[in-house]
Amino acid sequence: AKARGRANVQFFDPVVASAAYDALVVESQLAQALETGAFELHYQPQLRSGDGRLVGVEALIRWHHPERGLLLPDDFIPVAEERRLMLPIGQWVLREAMRCARRWHAQGLELPISVNLSSMQFQQRGFVDSLAELLRQEQVNGAWLELELTERMLMDDLDEVKATLAQLKALGMRISVDDFGTGYSSLGHLKELPIDKVKIDRSFVQDVPQNADAAAIVQAIVQLGRSLGMTVIAEGVETEAQERFLRELGCEELQGLRIAPPLSEADLQLWASRR
Ligand code: C2E
Ligand code: CA
Ligand code: CA
Ligand code: CA
Repeated sequence: AKARGRANVQFFDPVVASAAYDALVVESQLAQALETGAFELHYQPQLRSGDGRLVGVEALIRWHHPERGLLLPDDFIPVAEERRLMLPIGQWVLREAMRCARRWHAQGLELPISVNLSSMQFQQRGFVDSLAELLRQEQVNGAWLELELTERMLMDDLDEVKATLAQLKALGMRISVDDFGTGYSSLGHLKELPIDKVKIDRSFVQDVPQNADAAAIVQAIVQLGRSLGMTVIAEGVETEAQERFLRELGCEELQGLRIAPPLSEADLQLWASRR
């Protein structure tokens, strides 16, 4: 009996039990959040380095939690992925971004919105059809949106990925590769795909100009983009020194706290009008 007691104590490890309980609570609250409209998209400006023009924004999801306040994606996206809630949440993000793009276009603000896709969405059967249907419902032109995919999502089956991207391009959408440099994509693979933009991962941007390895990697990505005809954007630009280094290399677009944090729709419009 004593041995079993000890085994039970191990099984009900309070740390493990509370993590599982937390995930369960988050799961049910996430489902509720979709119904009560507790999610919000914030928009982070992307500037063209040449003339400082606002050329796009990245949509980033936030959750107004009833007790815990404003939550960032890292607090709930992993649970959503694990519990298959990423599909309805991803659908909400796409619809919301489309509605925002349509409001802006009605006001003459032609600003493309980049949306992050989860691998669960990209691999979902019928994803492109549901996206086409969403565009039709919301009366939005595909060219007003850009889709951010990670390298890993592109590395699956080349023929399949190629066909899916071709369908997305046919809807007018642009394709951007997020967190570039952290994945395992082969150059041969990449040049086979209709990619418009690569986003240099923050982990490299953070270490330039002082770290020689990071500087060499950033330079190589900028050159790669140039030779393959892709736009290159640096994410996570925080300092003047980073900005100067990237400009001098000819990195075309910049995003990060140095320019602006992710802003609510109202704050973004205020920010844009004050520049
Ligand atoms: P990400 O796609 O790499 O997005 C960039 C993240 O860096 C954002 O964090 C942004 O707020 C943050 N950031 C921007 N500028 C700076 C900077 O200068 N310095 C630093 N340190 N950070 C900066 P956030 O909003 O917390 O989002 C985290 C991740 O969650 C995103 O990383 C993305 O992978 C995921 N995510 C966000 N929204 C969505 C969504 O709607 N759908 C999906 N599937 N994933 C999303
Ligand atoms: Ca992103
Ligand atoms: Ca990124
Ligand atoms: Ca990142």
